[in-house]
Amino acid sequence: MTTASMWSYTWDLTYGSVSDTIGRLKNEIGLDTVSVATSYHTYEMLCGYRKGRKFLWEPQAAVYFQPDLSFYADTPIKPHVSPSATESDPLRAIGDACEMHGLTLSSWTVCLHNSLLATRHPDHAQTNAFGDVMPHALCPSSPAVQTYMVALARNLTQRYPVRVMELETLNFQGYAQHHYHGKFGLVPGPVESLLFSLCFCAHCEKHAAARGLDMDALRGEVHQQLDRFCEDATPSPQPLDEYIAAHTNINALLALRADIVSDFVRLIRENIDAPVYFYLMGDYAIAGMRYGELAQIADRVVILAYTDSPEQVVKQISGLKKDGVPAEKVIAGMQAYPPASPDADTLRRTVSAAAAEGVAGYCFYNYGIMPRKNLAWVGSALTGVRNTEGKR
Ligand SMILES: [Zn+2]
Repeated sequence: MTTASMWSYTWDLTYGSVSDTIGRLKNEIGLDTVSVATSYHTYEMLCGYRKGRKFLWEPQAAVYFQPDLSFYADTPIKPHVSPSATESDPLRAIGDACEMHGLTLSSWTVCLHNSLLATRHPDHAQTNAFGDVMPHALCPSSPAVQTYMVALARNLTQRYPVRVMELETLNFQGYAQHHYHGKFGLVPGPVESLLFSLCFCAHCEKHAAARGLDMDALRGEVHQQLDRFCEDATPSPQPLDEYIAAHTNINALLALRADIVSDFVRLIRENIDAPVYFYLMGDYAIAGMRYGELAQIADRVVILAYTDSPEQVVKQISGLKKDGVPAEKVIAGMQAYPPASPDADTLRRTVSAAAAEGVAGYCFYNYGIMPRKNLAWVGSALTGVRNTEGKR
């Protein structure tokens, strides 16, 4: 049978009785899992279900549990705890309720996209060819970052009833996340976007040197191309794959980066006693993702199938199969509100399309921000696929 989860936040699940909420998600909506944000980036959100004040925001990336700092002894990077989790431990309460109701607790973990930790530890953040630190991105090459992420995963799976580790942004990131108000008077093309995103931090340089890559020469190539772009403001017309194929150094660096990401996922997998779900939110060139390889290392991969078109869902999952990702490894992320789901019927049809492709399960986005009436849409979509599964 396929699995069904819902992305959710501690502050939403603990609004009112956490036990009642978890019980309702299982018994009324038909979920078997809840994916709770344990480490998360900044946000500002409208929570329409709240009585009275309805906006919440968090000015700093944070964790939403009470970490055991002994796990982090071997890394200078320490978790920053959200003020909402300092006096009481929301993940503990949610974990207890999940155990009581028989719902699987999964850690929705935003990994390296962390503006607070990247700015606090610039030596472990992605750094472009000009030496600009990317303020939103910890670098996956850094041993301290790797140790931090392993510690976080071990802390969550050993101190809480976390049964699944979902890893979002455990990869390289693009140069412009627009965490701050972005001001850009130049419009980079695909080639410039890649070159601005390449990391030249000390850790990446060390990996590259070990592989015999001449990073000084590569930096020179990147400078030349980007300086030209900054001067004449015209992006390269060359398609990205042609550009990469024509530049041996960059080709080799991209292969190295993909190895670093795959090895990092493997490292976490080997250090915890729980399945690992990897988010395929990114590509090979900028994010360092080899889809087929990652699907082999991770227990599941998570995709975002946010569309109102069942045909598009089929196309997306078929495309993954061509990349070596079998459907039975895929958790399909579904947006349970517009624009992807303007009504219950649309959601039912897109979820059914994913089911017919043979996916392992679904995860719905997301408990706190969807209108309350949409929970019934999720329930109805799940009833639809369960009925079909029952007839097989
Ligand atoms: Zn780096």
